Amino acid sequence: MNLFFSIIDKKINKRIFSLYSNVFLINYYQFCYTILSSIICILFFFFFFSITTSVFAQDSRIEKKIKKDSISNISKEIQSQKKKNYPNLISDAKNTINILCSPKMEGRGYVNKGEQLAASYIARQFEQIGLLKYKSSYFQSFNLKSVNTFPKKIQLKSKKNTFQGGKDYLVASFSNAGKGKVGILYLDSTFFENDSAQIAFNKVALKKSAVMYSDKWTKKIQQENPSFLEKIQEAKGVFVRTEKLIGVPSPVVYSKPYFEVLDSIFPIYESLDLIDLQDLKAAKKEGKISTLKFKVKSKLVESQPSQNVIGYIKGTKNSQKVVVFSAHYDHLGKMGKDVYFAGANDNAAGVAMLLELAKYYSENPPDYSVAFMAFGSEEIGILGSMFYTQNPLFPLKDIQFLINLDLIGTGEEGATVVNATIHKKEFELLKKINAENNYLKNIKSRGEAANSDHYFFHKKRVPSFFIYLNGGSQAYHDINDVPQNLSLFGYQNLYELLIEFSQGLMK
Ligand SMILES: [Zn+2]
Repeated sequence: MNLFFSIIDKKINKRIFSLYSNVFLINYYQFCYTILSSIICILFFFFFFSITTSVFAQDSRIEKKIKKDSISNISKEIQSQKKKNYPNLISDAKNTINILCSPKMEGRGYVNKGEQLAASYIARQFEQIGLLKYKSSYFQSFNLKSVNTFPKKIQLKSKKNTFQGGKDYLVASFSNAGKGKVGILYLDSTFFENDSAQIAFNKVALKKSAVMYSDKWTKKIQQENPSFLEKIQEAKGVFVRTEKLIGVPSPVVYSKPYFEVLDSIFPIYESLDLIDLQDLKAAKKEGKISTLKFKVKSKLVESQPSQNVIGYIKGTKNSQKVVVFSAHYDHLGKMGKDVYFAGANDNAAGVAMLLELAKYYSENPPDYSVAFMAFGSEEIGILGSMFYTQNPLFPLKDIQFLINLDLIGTGEEGATVVNATIHKKEFELLKKINAENNYLKNIKSRGEAANSDHYFFHKKRVPSFFIYLNGGSQAYHDINDVPQNLSLFGYQNLYELLIEFSQGLMK
């Protein structure tokens, strides 16, 4: 029987208790006294136990917290150790990128002096950093023979839609001015693969019509059908369908208004072989021909002023030898009143890096001289750097190495180095520094390419690399290349890599 249970029922079972008492040879009161003292002891034990456990539990919680804090402190420390020397790098670079990409800079092109505004901003930064000038100015001026621009309002409408410039279509950089309401003759595969359709087309008067075709035929037209290009000059306009709008400035102008239109936005029009080419008027009335209304004003500017912005830091040991960092600062400018190309990745991010490297070397004087060259007119044919190589401010042979930066606002997929296959020793050095410090995910090697400002230096036997980063935003030469689309994923690591690499080149 359970002793505890017995006590509860003591009144009822007194007799039984006394029996038990007798059995245990103690009387009833002694028994009660013993039981009560035991209960007090047990309660005291529980009280004591709970207090000690809670104290211990609290201790272990504090201990865990301390441990957790120290782990997060350590990881913070590792992070800050990496960034301790350059705590403001990213925010300063972002600031430069935002300024260069702001609407005030007009897309750093040839409308409203956008390029000059950007050049002046860079020169002011050079001054503040304390860079030296090769002559009396940071500017190296030159003139472009011509450039086609669109400073005034542009318009493109269908019956149902008003299309948005930059987003739905671009006026091609070599487009002429013009306006009108035109019937669209849509040339699809049945046209380009059918000789008789082309013969029929050649006989049609195109004066009141515009032609539209996909850019997938452009190569075939150029290679096999140059007479087609002549024929479409009779049309009132040309519309080329494309999957991605890409702007490029042009020094020349085509005879007609010329548009790039986005495949996904513009409807597929009635195919040309379904239209009675002999009677376009009737076909229009029957609703077989859709119309588009457009307005473009273009201005071919002759002798457009442009400039490079150049400064340097004198070397402390061997100042005649020069390491050059270069980046173009121009971009595509504006198209009409509202569309402008910010050019964040191409190449505000590169210019920002140039300024940050200039700051670094002004605070950490290098053994060799280090020159910083911000080139103009890259987008229109790498003309600023070409001009420099024809008119160098110091002998080209003094350049030990040139590092050109363009498209460095991402980096999720590492980097590519143009000319890596030519300058193997320097490429090995770059890769070694990268591997030792885990800077960029991987560095791909590439041969020569005429795709940025290193090119004409390379052609004049100046050893050079063009470094660009891969991954991230794919916006390129369109209105989406804006600061908010840049991850700057590899930016800080590239900065550190460039410092160590350039110092390695001076040994
Ligand atoms: Zn570009």
